[in-house]
Amino acid sequence: ENPRMSPFGTTIFAEMSALAVRTGAINLGQGFPDTDGPRELLDAAVAAILGGRNQYPPGPGVPELLEAVAAHQRRFYGIELDPTREVLVTAGATEAIAAAVLGLCEPGDEVVTFEPYYDSYAATIALAGAERRTSVLRFPDFAVDEASLRAAFSPRTKVVLLNTPHNPTGKVFTRDELELVAELAHEHDTWVVTDEVYEHLLFDGAQHVPISTLPGMRERTLTIGSAGKTFSATGWKVGWLTGPAEAVAAARRVKQFLTYVASGPFQPAVATALGLPDATYDGLASRLQHGRDLLVAGLEAAGLTVSRPAATYFVIADAAPLGAVDALEFCRELPERCGVVGVPVSVFHDDVDAARTLVRFAFCKKDEVLAEAARRLATLG
Ligand code: PMP
Ligand code: GLN
Repeated sequence: ENPRMSPFGTTIFAEMSALAVRTGAINLGQGFPDTDGPRELLDAAVAAILGGRNQYPPGPGVPELLEAVAAHQRRFYGIELDPTREVLVTAGATEAIAAAVLGLCEPGDEVVTFEPYYDSYAATIALAGAERRTSVLRFPDFAVDEASLRAAFSPRTKVVLLNTPHNPTGKVFTRDELELVAELAHEHDTWVVTDEVYEHLLFDGAQHVPISTLPGMRERTLTIGSAGKTFSATGWKVGWLTGPAEAVAAARRVKQFLTYVASGPFQPAVATALGLPDATYDGLASRLQHGRDLLVAGLEAAGLTVSRPAATYFVIADAAPLGAVDALEFCRELPERCGVVGVPVSVFHDDVDAARTLVRFAFCKKDEVLAEAARRLATLG
């Protein structure tokens, strides 16, 4: 076995989803909605399948999706892109992350990222033969620590792998924090790969700032999005990457040999969905905000300490007040104890002590499911 990959066993999402199936517990572990996305999206996929769009799509993506991604970046952020050279469609954001990191890094290069981090980051950096350098975001406010971020950079830093809004914390990076990242990227002449898959899942008027819109950042930033997250279709695996032609070409070169292409008929369907009115995007966010409120209230009533998320579909809670000493153990026992599944945040850390007793729960679920989870959690105390 490739020793670079041996530290990566089964992903926590697979382990915890299997545990949920085995025990019949409510699965608030892996993040996927239990409600379908917009009807127009589903209809457009059916039409594409019945309309014969079932063979390999073009390598970079179907033209109408390339156009629609460019139009989306213009509509929401004022970013102008050439759809033929500055947009690449991928098999979900996961492939976009892999293609970007593998396309930009050589063995021995360093990648700066924040922890907790989405689990594919560590594995992808390892696959590239690169090394990760991290800066810890600490419960409960997860603010950027300037000193540790500065210290994570070195002459070998090639890429900053950013994620805002952030999984698993639900944090939205502030403009000041992004300016600090941008300043360091300039100082060390690095690329920024920014995973913005939760860009539309914002609560209480929170504002998402794409780092590529900061002065001087367009030329050094690859931005990643996902239809799975934006339109509640995680199984479709349609993602995209946008940025300067040179970096998009580097990612495209890799992507050709990862999946070549994917999701043929879903690509035109996502193109349709990206053009839906603001009310559709807002409706998805406000439904999630309601779910957040239900779950936060339930966790607090059960005695956990909660960091209220401003975005995404995840909330982090500290189980220490319930006597937990190790989140992984706590999560492995939770289905037996109360019929709910969560994910230990420590698995997303190098510094596991920063998250010893923290658990992530997903609230992208129906009201009645969240209410039942809250009732079950209340029996823990
Ligand atoms: N990045 C982050 C931060 C995520 O949370 C996820 C999935 N939940 C992904 C990327 C992967 O997205 P996709 O399913 O589109 O590959
Ligand atoms: N991104 C989703 C999460 O964080 C899960 C994706 C996966 O299972 N790899 O829950």
